Amino acid sequence: MKTNKKQLRPRVPMPNQPPDERIGNFDEVALGYTLEMAKEEAERCLQCKKPKCVKGCPVEVPIPQFIEKLTQGDIDSAYAVFKSTNSLPAVCGRVCPQEIQCEGECILNVKGHPIAIGRLERFVADEYMHRDACGLITGKPECPLIDPEKKVACIGSGPASLTAAGYLAGRGCKVTVFEALHELGGVLVYGIPEFRLPKEKIVAKEINALKELEVEFVRNRVGGKTFSIKELFAAGYKAVFIGVGAGLPKFLGIPGENLNGVFSANEYLTRVNLGRAYSFPDFDTPIIKGRRVTVFGGGNVAMDAARTARRLGADSVHIVYRRTVAEMPARHEEVDHAIEEGIKMQELCSPIAFMPDEEGNLGSIRLQQMQLGEPDDSGRRRPEPIKGSELILSTDLAVIAVGTRSNPVLLEAEPELALNKWGYIKVDKQTCETSMSGVFAGGDIVTGAATVILAMGAGRTAAKEIARRIGCHPDD
Ligand code: FAD
Ligand code: SF4
Repeated sequence: MKTNKKQLRPRVPMPNQPPDERIGNFDEVALGYTLEMAKEEAERCLQCKKPKCVKGCPVEVPIPQFIEKLTQGDIDSAYAVFKSTNSLPAVCGRVCPQEIQCEGECILNVKGHPIAIGRLERFVADEYMHRDACGLITGKPECPLIDPEKKVACIGSGPASLTAAGYLAGRGCKVTVFEALHELGGVLVYGIPEFRLPKEKIVAKEINALKELEVEFVRNRVGGKTFSIKELFAAGYKAVFIGVGAGLPKFLGIPGENLNGVFSANEYLTRVNLGRAYSFPDFDTPIIKGRRVTVFGGGNVAMDAARTARRLGADSVHIVYRRTVAEMPARHEEVDHAIEEGIKMQELCSPIAFMPDEEGNLGSIRLQQMQLGEPDDSGRRRPEPIKGSELILSTDLAVIAVGTRSNPVLLEAEPELALNKWGYIKVDKQTCETSMSGVFAGGDIVTGAATVILAMGAGRTAAKEIARRIGCHPDD
């Protein structure tokens, strides 16, 4: 395999809204490639015989094939290649951590310029969005006939369930999705902000395409409260998929955490994204618009909360993280965008206490400075406190983004579901079947808080097995 100058060129940059403009709105930051840009980037691909990028993709999208179709300008075929393993490419192209997956493995990464696979994925998916709903789900022009007898229920409407629903509906099953909230999409809607993942333009379109395939969505239904799994089987469902995520926030467990002005990232982002608090009073959801905001954590959730606070008008936003920026688990692009937007990274710091102002609301936070010691079980260097190195950060809004746990509502109501020691559902790795026969599970409720692509991969694995069992054309 020979490389030439064209292929060693840097990646075609992604056009973005300028930082000083975008902190004043909730519109998408990355604007997307044009056809010319996408083709120019695609032409850098070496079309490797043994493509390492594919191995780096959790659902093994045949990446060189889709890139080749794109260089030929054949968007329909490029999209069909994607759809062969990835149900939500417009979502994944925007939120997957490509730098540690496909792009991290791309042979051109050795030179520091891997093919911008995520950006190309996004381009192809967005172009295809304008086509027919059936193709959006199946990647093929023809839609299957839905068999009303082959009923499958999905609980939760996040990426795991949407993927399972799409796979099954695309093979003729009659799918019903039961969602606890009043809006569909799970974290894609209530967690990830509009400026990273547009709700109407992308998420709603994917869901509407599922509706065209006769997938029924029932909102405001809480598994374990308003219905049980037994009732679903009694109503004629042949299999059940559980994709309820892991949406229960963790807290820091330090003094002052119950002061006014301290939020979990879940509540903060849900108020803004789902409750449209940024349009209060037009929408009926109040929010504290902090002037001096501090966010705890180093993942995508922390970046989203901090960047949201900036857009809501905060004068200063700090992200407090106990390791360094280099160790932050957030997507690199989100960290870069946050810094461009003026968010300050208070690395190597850990909170000790929240302290009140004269009126009893949050006024400041006491922090402990840390240093990195020996690697821990995760392989990352363990943060250790530096004695006598406390500092005070003036803060009127704090957002805690240090992880989530499984929500017990469904799990406690279904004691037959075996759980692991962390409280997540145990499944057979090959099929995603739980300890209850005919009941499958996938996504964050099995793995703990993870990624969209892993949730989708699990939804697909379960759906394949369900399709096989109930005879719905498991053709791949
Ligand atoms: P979820 O998306 O959590 O969906 C579960 C759904 O089930 C929810 O709609 C919930 O309301 C519903 N539900 C819960 N209980 C019940 C019940 N009893 N009955 C009925 N319905 C129920 N991942 C990435 O790959 N890239 C990112 O950039 C990224 N950013 C993130 C930013 C934020 C703010 C958050 C919170 C997460 C982010 N993630 C990201 C993680 C990713 O979104 C999740 O891993 C993924 O959404 C999990 O999908 P899921 O289908 O398992 O669950
Ligand atoms: Fe193209 Fe990189 Fe995959 Fe090779 S590894 S086929 S260069 S995307």
